[in-house]
Amino acid sequence: MTVAAVAPRTPAAAAGLARGDRIVAVNGHRLRDAIDFQFHTGDEWLELTVERDGVTAVKRVRRRGSGLGVELVPPRPGDIATCANKCVFCFIHQLPKGMRKSLYVKDDDFRLSFLHGNYITLSDLDEASFERIMAQRLSPLYISVHATDPELRHALLGRPRHSAEILPRLERLAKAGIRMHAQIVLCPDLNDGVHLERTVRELAPLHPHVTTTAIVPVGLTRHRERLPALRSLTAHEARALVATAEHWQGRWLAALGSRFVFLADEIYLLAGLPLPAAAAYEGFAIAEDGIGLVRQFEDDFGRAMARRRAVAKHRAAAGRHDGVTVVTGEMFAPRLSTLLAHGGFDPATIRVAAVANDFFGPAIGVAGLLTGRDIQRHLATRTDLGRAVLVPAVAVRDGDGIFLDDLTPADLARDLGVPVKVVQPTPVALLKAIRDS
Ligand code: SF4
Repeated sequence: MTVAAVAPRTPAAAAGLARGDRIVAVNGHRLRDAIDFQFHTGDEWLELTVERDGVTAVKRVRRRGSGLGVELVPPRPGDIATCANKCVFCFIHQLPKGMRKSLYVKDDDFRLSFLHGNYITLSDLDEASFERIMAQRLSPLYISVHATDPELRHALLGRPRHSAEILPRLERLAKAGIRMHAQIVLCPDLNDGVHLERTVRELAPLHPHVTTTAIVPVGLTRHRERLPALRSLTAHEARALVATAEHWQGRWLAALGSRFVFLADEIYLLAGLPLPAAAAYEGFAIAEDGIGLVRQFEDDFGRAMARRRAVAKHRAAAGRHDGVTVVTGEMFAPRLSTLLAHGGFDPATIRVAAVANDFFGPAIGVAGLLTGRDIQRHLATRTDLGRAVLVPAVAVRDGDGIFLDDLTPADLARDLGVPVKVVQPTPVALLKAIRDS
């Protein structure tokens, strides 16, 4: 494993580790990947075998408290296990040609599931990987289930070579004490209705090992030439699904002590219904999957605005300058406008720009899939951008700081003629950016 960075005043810094060092073993155990590194660095005293400029040395490190202070270089696309599936709804198959290579990596790697919460199908998982998950207790894992009916799941995954049967695999991991978060990508007319009911009913006995089941709507872009015909969930279906899921939640809460089934925020937004209260998300374990993020944002916004000093400062800021433009996707824009209005911000000053996604098409309304050009095109028609444009950090790829279409915030700022600030998706960050602009 190659060291990407060493934090100052940490055990790693004290032991003399530096960027570019290759850590090849910990306490005599050779490392295959970042999981082995995590697994073997839990002890207080560590002997790291380190290569630097062709010379191997052993460094003794005393671990105190939480971190060692080492950041490792992430795996390259070629080191990631990829899937052999052709899921009918695969987002990667719906990307247009010519985008940067890393966006087309169809990862299906249990290590990334454990480390970063990526969803995996288990369809290609070999015996050695199963053994490793159980031996190293790699838990929780995030599993794309979609349907428990073997034939239906096989069809949804695009009829892969391997069996797509999921329940025996989940049962095996559950017996070994592995916790899992299941996901269902809901495709109307394919795995909804009785199929969805069956899937949830067959997963529930695996609770608490299968800790949650997330239902997320299929995302369809305009680039679906030669792909199976699919359609998006309608608002009417979304409302019916909320009613059904809330009925199931009541039943599972009584039987299992957990609501067990959780709907994506997008489904509530599409249905035009209020988001459940925070308690209904049971700790927000799968917020990264878009389950409860809006509720968290709205509640945090309310708390931030409730701090009297903050209110005074933000209101003063709102009235003081000639405003900012806050960019978001079409789906969240009405909620954000309402929140800001309730917070006392004048919509003529703090302007919300609901940017339509022309690149992927009208069915994609989330802020995380906005491209730089769509933002640029939308804002170019406005004459009142204010002092700055605030873009959501979720639309800018981690690490490389560029939009999906390779535009950078600096390109956008140059085109629009105003500063562009990338803002983390938290109310505190948003309010600070408004105040400081
Ligand atoms: S598992 Fe399915 S959705 Fe995921 S990358 Fe592979 S084909 Fe795409």
